[in-house]
Amino acid sequence: MQDAAPAVADDKIRCDACPVMCFIKPGALGACDRYGNEAGVLVRVDPHVVLDHWLSDGGAVVPFNAGALDWDGSILREPATFITAIGAGTTYPDYKPAPFIVASEVEGVDMVTVVTEGIFSYCGVKVKIDTDRHLGPERALVRADGEPVGHVTTGEYGSQMLSLGGVHHLTGGTKREGRATCDALLALCNGAAVELTVDEGATVLVQAGKPPLVNGQVEERMRVGCGSATIGMFAKQWFGKVDEVVVVDDHITGVLSEHQAGKLLGIADSGIKMKGRRSTPGRYFQVADPGTGWGGTNIADPLQILGSFDPRKARPGLTMLMVSTTGEHASYYVLDEALRPVEQAMPDDLARSVALIQENCEPALSTVLFMGGAGGSLRAGVTENPVRLTRSVKDALTVVTCGGAPTYVWPGGGITFMVDVSKVPANGFGYVPTPALVAPVEFTLRLSDYEKLGGHMDHVRPLSEFRGPAAHRTRVPHRAENPWPLMPDAARGPHR
Ligand code: SF4
Repeated sequence: MQDAAPAVADDKIRCDACPVMCFIKPGALGACDRYGNEAGVLVRVDPHVVLDHWLSDGGAVVPFNAGALDWDGSILREPATFITAIGAGTTYPDYKPAPFIVASEVEGVDMVTVVTEGIFSYCGVKVKIDTDRHLGPERALVRADGEPVGHVTTGEYGSQMLSLGGVHHLTGGTKREGRATCDALLALCNGAAVELTVDEGATVLVQAGKPPLVNGQVEERMRVGCGSATIGMFAKQWFGKVDEVVVVDDHITGVLSEHQAGKLLGIADSGIKMKGRRSTPGRYFQVADPGTGWGGTNIADPLQILGSFDPRKARPGLTMLMVSTTGEHASYYVLDEALRPVEQAMPDDLARSVALIQENCEPALSTVLFMGGAGGSLRAGVTENPVRLTRSVKDALTVVTCGGAPTYVWPGGGITFMVDVSKVPANGFGYVPTPALVAPVEFTLRLSDYEKLGGHMDHVRPLSEFRGPAAHRTRVPHRAENPWPLMPDAARGPHR
């Protein structure tokens, strides 16, 4: 809860937690739905989230304010409680100390955690979509609600990457573009599904931790490898069962008889002729255009990527398996008297090898990483000398978490961090209509270091103070897959 702001006419109060400076009527919410006027008091309406390590270890959930009379205070055991920034509130302008600066003791070391809901005009998300299907050319615009909100960036191994948001889309375009960008980022960060369309490309439904839908089709499997790698992995499975195998891949199509794996097994030349550009033996680039067909190409009939068989090496009756890198597509052929491949029923032993490719694929997922820069302004709420905080983070003396989830802090200047949104407690992100995203940020360091870097020492509160009225506070189990933010391993710096 925030101190009451000065009352103004009509019992409205002014929220000063962001540059919008809303006037809020009694019983109403501000423009971001984060702050409200409750009987003349400005409150942060979402509950303040506290992580409980004990709950994640199987302890029973006890609401903060239930049975307050016989409550024994055990929920505030240290260091099993971590005060996150979710619901903590934002300070503006930025020289004001962060909403909560909480002291605790960890294994005999005095620690402090500075929490604030940072407002990020400079932020975005990186989306990894596990699919071979071509979503669109690199640099193509990605749209949400018809507005440009990002672009397609480099393809990775079995995944297509999107870069969404950023200051240019949030603030550099039209008002509608900024809003659409903010809405899409917020939904993705809070785990909701967002439909994105790529110019000259696909429509994809993205939701963190869920399989993507590409043009309405659920993507089930992430490929086992590129075409060449698939040949390398499964060559032995095919040896003696089929004369030739082509693994169709938009990037690197593999041909068993020419590939080093086939050579070492003594597989004879089949006389196959591939279209596309030969890279090294048994590895072909650009056999077709990218698309949503076989192996991320635009083809529905794999024979389109073959030329005529060489009659000096091929023979009638030669057998050939063509398969995609996920095993989703597979066909079996036998050469006729004219050395033309004729599709036939897949023999059982080859069907099993295709099933093995499928089995070795991992489930396809969409992954969303929030990326934001904790600028000079946010840092001022932590210390009166902001650059010292940056140095402290770079020197690993200060650990940065996002709703208690671990972050990766980029090397170089500033505090630019990334976090897997699926590791952040539910609905941890918010927005303000400037437009910008609101993300929880916690800085944890030794109390002595905090003092040295010019921290707001007169605002440090003991953890025990958080046993007070808890109508606006909720405990959630700490996620077992996340390092405990106050553990020595996670807090390498403080326990150096
Ligand atoms: S948008 Fe939200 S945080 Fe900003 S002034 Fe209005 S109520 Fe306060």
